[in-house]
Formats: sequence, structure tokens, C-alpha cells
Amino acid sequence: MIAMKKFLIPVCIFITGFCGAQNKSAYLLQPDRVFDGTDMHDGWVVLVEGDRITNVGTRESVKTSKAIEVVSMPGTTLLPGLIEGHSHLLLYPYNITDWDTQVLKESDSYRTARATVHAKNTLMAGFTTVRDLGTEGAGYSDVALKRAINEGIIPGPRMIVAGRAIVSTGSYGPKGYDSDQSIMLGAEPADGNDLIRVVRDQIGKGADFIKVYADYRWGTKGEDQPSFTLEELKLINEVTRSSGRYLVCHAKSKEAMRRAILAGAETIEHGDFIDEEIAQLMKEYKVTYFPTVAAIDAINQYRGWKKGKDEEPAAVKNKKKTLRIAVNAGVTIGVGGDVGVFPHGENVYEMELMAEYGGMKPVDILRSATTINAKALHLENEIGSIKPGMKADLMAVKGDPSKSIAELRKVAFVMKDGVVVRAEK
Ligand SMILES: [Zn+2]
Repeated sequence: MIAMKKFLIPVCIFITGFCGAQNKSAYLLQPDRVFDGTDMHDGWVVLVEGDRITNVGTRESVKTSKAIEVVSMPGTTLLPGLIEGHSHLLLYPYNITDWDTQVLKESDSYRTARATVHAKNTLMAGFTTVRDLGTEGAGYSDVALKRAINEGIIPGPRMIVAGRAIVSTGSYGPKGYDSDQSIMLGAEPADGNDLIRVVRDQIGKGADFIKVYADYRWGTKGEDQPSFTLEELKLINEVTRSSGRYLVCHAKSKEAMRRAILAGAETIEHGDFIDEEIAQLMKEYKVTYFPTVAAIDAINQYRGWKKGKDEEPAAVKNKKKTLRIAVNAGVTIGVGGDVGVFPHGENVYEMELMAEYGGMKPVDILRSATTINAKALHLENEIGSIKPGMKADLMAVKGDPSKSIAELRKVAFVMKDGVVVRAEK
């Protein structure tokens, strides 16, 4: 071996609880190249001291003391820890267990036990932060999961969480059960002025932001139709904002997207029916779009679509069309796959599909998963870029993902808060 110190660094052992301790180590990371959240730089090194990045640049420009541990990482690209913009850590793929069964028959305890594994798999895939978009019937288990991760009890990504999320009465599932039965829902129903109380209650119980289903497939033909009036969405936004938080909206239909944007939602989730007009409105209001392409791709395969052989289902064709409208219009696009519908740890799937469906360039997709997502999460001063003062959340892959986004699957190294959690030999 030429590089004697290649990855010979202590990897945090979670079962000892060591990871919860403040990390006092210092490392000089020497990959082949560094993606800083905006551009690629050949030959750069990154200095990490404690839980922060303290310097970055060419080897000559970064001054170090002798005591520092030099970590040679030949053949790799170092990036900011990736950010998943739309996860459901309390869900797992519907081809294993359908959504109704997970929501109605599985206890919160069982689902949380599974979620601890989902969290670990996410972190090990190089995703050091997630924005979790609702527990889908598991109460505030996301708040507890976040706490256990922050305390170093279990490995997992930095989390910001929605809690239960809000739906209008009558719109959300599970559906199709005898109406004499009171069925537990996948989110909390509220309407009119009662929305004030529910938003505040969710905030009090730990929601970092408010997630609302601005539409749902409850039209007379099962199509997506708005579930809240514009006034209701404005009310939710006002109450949310006054607590220093922000509103994000599930919205697929044109009218629900329009209302969500005008009401002040910062991000639109799914956005299946974006057209030119909505794309322009999103730009005008500086809304970030999370396309959740992977959910569409996965669900259609679960329904029997043989990708690459069969003709593309209408939903797939439609998603390609709308994503390209958004990309061509210059809408700000984040990475958010609705992971949970597909396996946790496979988050890169969404990024691959942003290239395949939307024709996005790999470097733009890398920006989406780092700087753009960090801003959408209001965390741009902490994570998402490699520069002095930022949290030492980093990941490295073998190869160059600015040439092919699939290289992100070749994870060689993951660091969170300055602690090495994965280092391939
Ligand atoms: Zn979702």
C-alpha cells in the first residue's frame, strides 16, 4: 500500500455511546477532489477540528500542526454530507407492507424500532441530514428518534421533523373502511379556525416546521383536488411563521400549488402537475420544488411496470414532462425522494432519476442535495457546504459524481459532527 494512512482512522462505535461525546479530534482529509457545495476543486484538502471544518483549499494553503491526523483518500471525491429533503423514516417500502397496514396495524413502538435501522442506513449512505415529512400515523415518534440520535444513543442523520402533519377532514387515508368505524389517519385532521390550535399543538410537541396536505386524491374520479381553501392555508402560514417556523405543502394539482404558493409555503412537495404558469409563480415566490421522482418510479414498478421493457405508465410520462418544465423554467429544485416508499439508504435513487427524468446535469443535482437543500431547511449556515465554520458533516465516494451521479453509491467515508461513522478500508 502506498497510502499507509488510507482510512486508518477510528470509526465511532455506536454501541459504546462514544458518539454522543464531544469530538476533540483533528483530521486533514486528502481526497482527489472536493465538491464544496457549489463547484469541484481538484487537489483540495479539508481541515476538520472538533465538530467543525476549519480550513479548506490547496495543500500548500492549509496550514496544519504536526499533531494532526492526515487521512489520505486516493481516488475519492469529498462532498458535504448529503441532505435528504423528503424522507419518512417511520415508513418502509410498500411492496413489503402496504401503507394502510403500516398505519393501521403496526404499533408506534414497532415502527420506531424499524426506524432506528432506517436512520442508520441513511447515515451510512452519506446522508447526514434529513427533513422528515411526517410519521404517517406514528404520532411524534420522529421527535423521539431525533432526540435519540442527537444524544448519541443510536446512529442516524441530523433530523428536522414535521411530526404528524395536517390534513383537512375527509380528505386523507386510510380510506375505504366502513364509515361506522373510526379509522386512525396518517396525519392530523383540522379545518377552519381549529387550524390555529392544531398548528400550535404540533409545534408544542416538537414540529420543526408545519407540513400540510394542500390537496389529496379525493376528487369525484379519485383525482387530486385541493383540500384547504386559500384562507385556511394563509391562516396556517401566519400561525406557523409567528413561531419562527415555516410551512411546506404536499401539492400535486395546479390549484393546490397556486394556493400553497400564494399562502406562503416555502416548498412544494411532488408538484405532479406543474405547468409554465406555476413554474413562474414558484420562481416569483422563491419556492423550492421537491419532485419526489423516485416515489413515482418505485410505486409504478410495485404495480407491475417493468422498467426498460414495458411502455411507461402515464404517471411516469407526466412526471418527466413536469420535471422538465420546472428545470427549463429555472425553478429551484431540491433533492427529496419520498424515501420510505423505497428503501432507506437508497436515497441516491432520487438523484439518479433527476438526471433520467429531468435531464439535470450531475453537478446541478449535487448542488440540489447540498447547498440548495441546506437553504430549504434553513440550515445553510451550518451544513451543505465545505467552508470554514461549517459543521464537519462530510462524505466521500470513490470516483467523480460530477461525471456520473451513480458514483454517489460508492460510499467510502462518512463523517457527522466531526465523528467518523464510516471509513472503507
Ligand atoms: Zn412524503
